[in-house]
Amino acid sequence: MKKNYKPESLMMSHGYKPELSEGSIKCPIFQTSTFVFKTAEEGKAYFELAYGLREKNQDEELGLIYSRINNPNLEILENRLTLWDKADDSAVFESGMSAISTVLLEFLKPGDLLLYSSPTYGGTDHFIHDFLPKIGVDAVAFHPEDSQEDIEKILAETGKADKLGLIYIETPANPTNSIIDIEMCNRLAKKYSSEDHRTYVCVDNTYMGPVWSKPLEIGADLVVYSATKFIGGHSDLIAGAVMGNAELMIRVKTLRTFLGNMVSPHTAWLMLRSLETLKIRMEKQSQNAQKVANFLNGHEKVEKVHYLGLIDEESPYYELYKRQYNAPGAMISFLIKGGEKEAFQFLNSLNLIQLAVSLGSTESLAQHPQTMTHCAIEPKARERMGVTANLVRVSIGVEDAEDIIHDVSQALDTVK
Ligand SMILES: *Cc1c(COP(=O)(O)O)cnc(C)c1O
Repeated sequence: MKKNYKPESLMMSHGYKPELSEGSIKCPIFQTSTFVFKTAEEGKAYFELAYGLREKNQDEELGLIYSRINNPNLEILENRLTLWDKADDSAVFESGMSAISTVLLEFLKPGDLLLYSSPTYGGTDHFIHDFLPKIGVDAVAFHPEDSQEDIEKILAETGKADKLGLIYIETPANPTNSIIDIEMCNRLAKKYSSEDHRTYVCVDNTYMGPVWSKPLEIGADLVVYSATKFIGGHSDLIAGAVMGNAELMIRVKTLRTFLGNMVSPHTAWLMLRSLETLKIRMEKQSQNAQKVANFLNGHEKVEKVHYLGLIDEESPYYELYKRQYNAPGAMISFLIKGGEKEAFQFLNSLNLIQLAVSLGSTESLAQHPQTMTHCAIEPKARERMGVTANLVRVSIGVEDAEDIIHDVSQALDTVK
C-alpha cells in the first residue's frame, strides 16, 4: 500500500525525475527559452494540446514547447505547491500582483460587480479602483465585522447584485489580523449565482500563508498568494501563485500564457529551495510570534495587540479562528501608547528586527502601516480599519525568540 506522505516529506522530490537530468539530485535551472521537438509530428501534437485544439489521448502529457507556455522548473514547482492547499493545479506568476490581477481579469467582465473585503492589500485596492472601472467593472467593499445580512444590504444598494461575478477576500487581513468567514462567502456566492452566471470566491491567503489554512477545503474556488512572503520566505524574490480546481486553473493558465506574466525559471528554482523548509520555517515563526505577542500583551507601553493567538475563548471570533486556522501565524500588529512619534521612536530603536515592509521572511521585519504600506488609503477608511498613527506591524522570523523579545523590550524602553 502506498503511504500518503505529508507535503513537507515530498518537497524535496515530488514531480522531479533525476534520470531526466543526468542523475542530478536537485532539479537544475532550465534557463532556456525554447525546447527541441524530436519530430514535426511531436511539435504539432504538443501545440494541439497547448491550444486546446483537441482532447488529450489516454496517458498523453503536454510536452515542453516554449518557456512562456511551460518549463520544468515551473511545472515541478506548481506540482509541489498544490500539495499544501490540496489543489488540483496551481500557476506561478512573476509577482503576487500579477497573480491577483490575472484572476480579476479572468473572472470579471464588463458590467460585472466585484465584492471585496476591506482592508485589502494596497496594490489590489489600486487595481480595483483605478483599473477595473476602465473595463466597466464596479466594486463594492464590506468589512470584517459585517454580517451576511449587512453584506446582502450592501449588494442590494448597488442595484447590480445579479451581476456579482467575484467575491474577493483577504483573511486574516493586513495589518490588523481581522478574520472573515469563508463559509459565509460561499453561501453568498451560491445565493447570487444563477443558471447563466456563477459567482466565484477567491481568498488572498498571503497573510497566514499556506501551511495553517486551506481555503479550498473550506469551499473557496481560488486561492492567491504573494509568494514573495512565506512561500519564498527569504526576502530574495518576488513571485505569486494561484490555486484551484482543474477547470478554473485552465482559464488562469491560458490568460497567463497570453499576458506572459509567468515566473522566470530562476525564480521558480529559488522557490523550489524555499518550499523544502516552508513547514519548519512557519512552525518556528508562529511559535516565536506567540511568545512575542504574549510579551507585548500587557506591557505598560502597549495599548492593544492584534494577534490570532490572543483571541479570547469568549470572543465571537474564537470559533471562526479555530474553524479556519490551525495556528495563529507569524504576523502581529500592536498599538503603542502615544502616536506617530512614539511609534517611530520604537521602530528607530530596533537593532535585531529590520525596519522594512514585506513579511513572512526568515528575518523579523517591522514597519508603520499608516505612513508606509497603507499610506495611499483614504484617511477616513484607514481609521475605520484600525490603521492609526500608533499602530506598528511586526513580521516574526526564525531568530531565537528571547533575542526578538529582548530587541522589542529595549526598543519599547526607549519610548518616552
Ligand atoms: C505583498 C502582498 C501582495 C502583493 O504581492 P507582490 O508579490 O508584492 O506583488 C498581495 N497581497 C498581500 C496580502 C500581500 O501581502
